[in-house]
Amino acid sequence: MKISKTEKRLRQPIVVVLGHVDHGKTTLLDKIRGTTVVKKEPGEMTQEVGASFVPSYVIEKLAEPLKKVIPIKLQIPGLLFIDTPGHEYFSNLRRRGGSVADIAILVVDITEGLQKQSIESIQILRERKVPFLIAANKIDRIPGWKANNDLPFLETIEKQRNDVKVYLDNLIYNLVSQLANLGFNAERYDRIKDFTKTVAIVPVSAKTGEGIADLLALLAGLTQRYLETRLRFAEGPAKGVILEVKEDPGLGHTIDVIIYDGVLKRNDTIILGGINGIIITKVRGIFVPKPLQDMKVSKYDLTPIDEAYAAAGVKVSAPNLEEALAGSPIYVIEDESKIEQYKKQIEEEIKEVRFYNDID
Ligand code: GDP
Repeated sequence: MKISKTEKRLRQPIVVVLGHVDHGKTTLLDKIRGTTVVKKEPGEMTQEVGASFVPSYVIEKLAEPLKKVIPIKLQIPGLLFIDTPGHEYFSNLRRRGGSVADIAILVVDITEGLQKQSIESIQILRERKVPFLIAANKIDRIPGWKANNDLPFLETIEKQRNDVKVYLDNLIYNLVSQLANLGFNAERYDRIKDFTKTVAIVPVSAKTGEGIADLLALLAGLTQRYLETRLRFAEGPAKGVILEVKEDPGLGHTIDVIIYDGVLKRNDTIILGGINGIIITKVRGIFVPKPLQDMKVSKYDLTPIDEAYAAAGVKVSAPNLEEALAGSPIYVIEDESKIEQYKKQIEEEIKEVRFYNDID
């Protein structure tokens, strides 16, 4: 794909999923991936390394019935979901002054409300200045709920009995007061006037797929409207973060990387943090899962590519990656005279990474 320099292009927002254990994070991510696989065009690649891509046309198709409430014409190419949920993993997605994640979904079991790890998640999101919305999950467990698989929330709610609607409203009200105690205004998303002041609550069921359309449409709509500057695509040298360090048969030591800005190319010189100091090396190969392959990456289903544009999840092979540090930043060095500057910057940034790894 060639992109002209003058074109104002937005990259896909990076989305993370957090929440209390058993509230449905994994099920929700599976449902989003499953919905995407069904709706995407044949052959289109949606699986990346450590992340899954939901193209905009899939979101537009799903959100068609909601267009009176969420009028979206998408300029972003889609949404990139980090595959591993939870706040422990999230803490590795650090970037200078914040997080690699552009927005987060806090999954809350609506029948349980906020629990210990929900509150911890909110604290860490607040600390890293990541905006979030709430997926109020498991609405299918409300007494009397009549499931309408995969319908948008706003349609399925209309088909429920009045007492069921009241029951749900009470659960939402409890959640709203819990959030108020933490200093947040929150409201069911279709009742919100100003999204900059109110946390959106989207009732969903990760099991039946109800509300998934609303959730995706809202994520896309809010990010492109309020995070435009942050999402402006830059054609410069890549910036990323290391998710994991692995040994892959045939490739040696590799790093799984989320690129949040710029372009990574084969033979680029990269700088990253290592267990025993800074590592400078040259990209030997960049890999993504093979098209049509929607399962988790295994050693056989990788395919090499020449370059990767932000935002993307890729595997990178290069010499000397044995001691690479998960959670470290990775930068492409375009100008060798700036190596010392990069070194200092990374040393600063990984001090924090080590600290977090130590307390894990
Ligand atoms: P995680 O620990 O947050 O990743 O939670 P899981 O996704 O593993 O879900 C925990 C349990 O809740 C599993 O048994 C799921 O099948 C169940 N679950 C998740 N979402 C829903 C939902 O929307 N409705 C119902 N009824 N069960 C759900």
